[in-house]
Amino acid sequence: MNPMQRNALECQAISEAFLSLHEQDGFTRLPPSSLLHDSVPMSFVMSAGLIQVENDLDKIVAETGGKFAFTQPCFRHFDMKQVGEDPTRLSLFHMSAAFHIGCSKRETVLPRLWRFLTETLGLEKDRLWVTYLDDEEFGRDEASYQCWKTLGVEEGRLVGLDQNHCFWRQRSLGQIASDGKKCGPHTEVFYERPEVSCPSCESVERAIGSCRCGRFVEISNSLFIENYIADDGSLIPADTVFAECVVGLERSAMILQGVSTVYQTSRFREWHQHIGKLLHPPLSIEQKNSLNIAFDHLSAFVKLTNDGAPAPGKGGRKYIMRRLVRDAMNQVQQCGLDTTFLLEVLLKDHHPTALERLQEECVRFNRYVQPINDNARCVNHDGK
Ligand SMILES: [Zn+2]
Repeated sequence: MNPMQRNALECQAISEAFLSLHEQDGFTRLPPSSLLHDSVPMSFVMSAGLIQVENDLDKIVAETGGKFAFTQPCFRHFDMKQVGEDPTRLSLFHMSAAFHIGCSKRETVLPRLWRFLTETLGLEKDRLWVTYLDDEEFGRDEASYQCWKTLGVEEGRLVGLDQNHCFWRQRSLGQIASDGKKCGPHTEVFYERPEVSCPSCESVERAIGSCRCGRFVEISNSLFIENYIADDGSLIPADTVFAECVVGLERSAMILQGVSTVYQTSRFREWHQHIGKLLHPPLSIEQKNSLNIAFDHLSAFVKLTNDGAPAPGKGGRKYIMRRLVRDAMNQVQQCGLDTTFLLEVLLKDHHPTALERLQEECVRFNRYVQPINDNARCVNHDGK
């Protein structure tokens, strides 16, 4: 695939490519879950995990033979404060995921993933780094290591990391681990962007998965569940093993589109174009960052509203919705823009319900809080 084709790939196209490749290998495509799922009653779906399908797992396994794939929107309210602090952090993002229940063989996951990354997406092999578990307590994930080597990944690009980086353990109990919490090693693929110069990243082993400069971007993670973990930390072999492989769509799109942050990917392009016409002189770096955070939060608000989230208010999901609006408003005001006008420009034509709720919350907010910038206004707004 040549660079021209790569540039054309947006999140939707990456998702479609991932799901089709799995369908060709006998996986059944499932629809995504609503972001409002019973498994997270006080919040929203946070990852492309098994939790959304666990209640129906027996039925799904019977229908799919245990092999299924889907693309899931995910929202992490606990990441909101970190949006804008590095080039790849979003509160709302999308993951394509493939599950194989009853099998944890690396050979059934990693070769397909490698083909997807290097052939379907066309990522350069000499930009890819792979982590695997190499830990004092849990040992070395020899199966993953050997599988990557067989695929042609050079030893120097295989980075062994401890359990803090490459070992997953379940936090709450689910159906298929009823006698303990699931756990297992995972192996991640990172894309290196050498154009980001960073002193901390001279040592790949120390930087990968730790430094947030954006030189190493995690684009994929494959997890192999083979054990439960007991309260005393000992491992108990699982009756039902499984493998999960996920790919981050916005991060992959950022790399394929050759832009330096997820905020510049096509997902936000239309909003940037709308706003770009209204702004002169150009925004400072700080103001651009504020706009990125505002766009992330507003985009999450719209998606959550469309999925049936409640209007902003007190407690649980309502409170999360309120925080999204208020944090976004603060950021918009730091850009010297009028929030009401900005919302009209971005949302009027496509998202009337989200717009109405955002405007109501802005009125409430303005009643109690002095705007950070009293001169906040839109530069080209007629009549202002
Ligand atoms: Zn760095």
